Amino acid sequence: MLFQIPKWLRRTGDAVLNLVYPPHCAICLCKTQAGEHLCAACRKDAPVVRAPFCATCSSPFSGQIDGPFICPNCRERHLHFACAVVCYQSRGAVRDLVHRFKYNGKVYLRNVLIDWLAETLNDPRLQAPVCDRIVPVPLHSTRERERGFNQARVLAEGLTGRSGIPLADCLKRIRYTTTQTIFDREERMENLRGAFQMRQSADVHDLHLLLIDDVLTTGSTVDECARVLREAGAASVRVATVARA
Ligand SMILES: [Zn+2]
Ligand SMILES: [Zn+2]
Repeated sequence: MLFQIPKWLRRTGDAVLNLVYPPHCAICLCKTQAGEHLCAACRKDAPVVRAPFCATCSSPFSGQIDGPFICPNCRERHLHFACAVVCYQSRGAVRDLVHRFKYNGKVYLRNVLIDWLAETLNDPRLQAPVCDRIVPVPLHSTRERERGFNQARVLAEGLTGRSGIPLADCLKRIRYTTTQTIFDREERMENLRGAFQMRQSADVHDLHLLLIDDVLTTGSTVDECARVLREAGAASVRVATVARA
């Protein structure tokens, strides 16, 4: 039988831990409830993507538009995903937390990011047809070893926990691509060609997939993943991310 820590000791332990390391907001450092990493004020300050925005890539439009519209960027491309849904802009607190989570190994911040990601499930574009599987954008194994985790998989697992939609970790990244930030869109597409492959025995035939990444930038990475998934027989691919650049 496993040794059980008595309740009184566990409670004392938590209380002592909270004294030594009181729960605080990751942004403004104010005191928060146990288990909360963001205070209500900072949560309210997170930059939301507000309508009007592109029905395909959720890029906000600053002018006056009535009804649904597709941005010029999406109109001139042949995209392999149906839409990319995202509720927050990668600015201020949102960009800061994503950065700390991804590059500084602050994995405990995932719950805030998963909250923001899970808000996309309220969007009508993700409600019909129902998503059958959640698929994380893969990292190359070398990159994953360097970082210690794949941020997209951590987020996808969290979303599976919140939604009950099963996870299908069905893609792998077979090419170690150099960092994309210095490239324009054409160069990114070129750089990504052949970077992804289906895992052996993965079956996505006739399934509606929800592809997960941390931040949507040009959409080239998710589009290349979507291309591979559609080629493998997926009925549709939609995308959800925590934020958009
Ligand atoms: Zn705060
Ligand atoms: Zn668009």
